[in-house]
Amino acid sequence: MSAQKGIPRPKHVPQRTCIACRSTEAKRGLVRVVRTPEGRVELDLTGKKNGRGAYVHESRVCWDEALKKERLGRALKVTVPAADLQALNAHATALSEQPE
Ligand SMILES: [Zn+2]
Repeated sequence: MSAQKGIPRPKHVPQRTCIACRSTEAKRGLVRVVRTPEGRVELDLTGKKNGRGAYVHESRVCWDEALKKERLGRALKVTVPAADLQALNAHATALSEQPE
């Protein structure tokens, strides 16, 4: 497996920026959070919900940063409703802590 065939031509992978650590990543390593037209802030695991979206790494560190420092609210230009914040916190807590 040493012969290179053809020209390496990587597929275009959409990159998104994590609102917590500010590093870019292919969309699949991040989870989308959406501000719905009703002003709710919720996880968008399908990435297809309508509304303003923000991306966070699926890592405890980034979620902590996004939630505790209100980066999420700032990115979405909304005050995250308490109930939604609770749900997002639960999501963050469920993630295992991963070393960077
Ligand atoms: Zn991140």
